[in-house]
Amino acid sequence: MSQRLQAVRGMNDVLPQQTLRWQRLLSAARAALQAYGFREILLPVVERTELFRRAVGETTDVVEKEMYTFQDRSGDWLSLRPEGTAGCVRAGVEHGLLHNQQQRLWYAGPMFRHERPQAGRYRQFYQIGVEAYGIPGPQIDVEVIAASARLWRMLGLRDLRLEINTLGGEARVRYREKLLAYLERFAADLDGDSQRRLHSNPLRILDSKIARTQTILAGAPSILDFLDAPARTYFDALQQGLTDLGIEYTVNPRLVRGLDYYTDGVFEWITEALGAQGTVCAGGRYDRLVEQLGGGAVPAVGWASGVERLVLLLEQAERAAGIAIDDGAPHAYFCWLDQDSRRQATQQGERLRDQLPWLRLVVHAGAGMLKAQLKRADGCGARLALILGGREAAQGTVQVKSLCDGQIAEVAMSRLGAELARRLAPGGPAENSS
Ligand code: ATP
Ligand code: MG
Repeated sequence: MSQRLQAVRGMNDVLPQQTLRWQRLLSAARAALQAYGFREILLPVVERTELFRRAVGETTDVVEKEMYTFQDRSGDWLSLRPEGTAGCVRAGVEHGLLHNQQQRLWYAGPMFRHERPQAGRYRQFYQIGVEAYGIPGPQIDVEVIAASARLWRMLGLRDLRLEINTLGGEARVRYREKLLAYLERFAADLDGDSQRRLHSNPLRILDSKIARTQTILAGAPSILDFLDAPARTYFDALQQGLTDLGIEYTVNPRLVRGLDYYTDGVFEWITEALGAQGTVCAGGRYDRLVEQLGGGAVPAVGWASGVERLVLLLEQAERAAGIAIDDGAPHAYFCWLDQDSRRQATQQGERLRDQLPWLRLVVHAGAGMLKAQLKRADGCGARLALILGGREAAQGTVQVKSLCDGQIAEVAMSRLGAELARRLAPGGPAENSS
């Protein structure tokens, strides 16, 4: 017997009951981002490995340990993208979109990281990403954050909190030295990962989750004490901008991001509802990256949000609010009794779909007696069965059977659309928005 194949670990199928929620999320994101003038860009899933080395950074976890890298048949080293910013900058530079211009771009798609799979952490995961180029901070930083806040509102996600910090621009170099000097005194007591990063990427140690290291960090110098005048002005204005828009935040001086390209303001949207994988959106300002990748000195800011984590939150929010979860099942199932009524049902089905664009209607296909057809109607989750036989066809009627309580009504064919609208879409957004 041949062995059944399974999906690659950490790379999940999203099954039909779930995809409606994904669609809702992605269309909300499209609407929220368009509202700020962001335009969608479609980018390849594979890029040259070199791009991520240079953009994300050699000493980051993502590049050191997590990339899916391979040599293709021409011998080129390629990687599945672990994040979207590098490819977006590459495309922007390649097509001259960034030179002396402002660009507001967004994208969505799968990213790949060889991490340990667990709830909310996968090896293939989907991100929505936003990037704004050619505009120095902080006004646009506030705007990209406001766009994310708008998206949460549109999705009805309430329990997200915003943390912000700054990496200090030029001040980062001086801070790095001071932090390193401090951490070197405790080098022997740091956890292994942090010891390894001590000289390559000491700032990254700041967000270590290891208790021993956190104790040491409690006494570490804070970036906020090292800000020079421009960095201070920038960070104050960022906070003022958020306050002006009524966006609540807390300053977390330990917040650093796992990718090397960030230079100034950074932020994360965090929830307590997903356990350890609580960051649903993260980003910041990266004013050096475009230049590093061969473009001009183009300031930039952006964020990326993990779709699977948002979907988990949406599910929780729906459950808490007692909202009946729409799993995308058909609303109605059209049964027919003989070949003539099959043809009529098929034609009638087209008419109903013209008339009610939101309607999800299945016309029975294949063989089967009425009993078997009704069983399928029930099994697919439809609320109504429409039944058409020789007698109904002759009278110009259809039987409409509720699959909830079994009640049957005889409805004139000409009134069928109105009847379905009345019974299936009483203004309920679940029925007529999707
Ligand atoms: P984390 O701290 O959770 O590892 P990160 O700092 O690596 O996140 P980013 O590279 O900033 O994350 O990616 C932005 C967002 O993408 C994260 O906030 C998260 O929502 C999502 N994300 C990142 N890695 C994964 C993953 N392996 N599985 C699912 N979602 C992920
Ligand atoms: Mg990570």
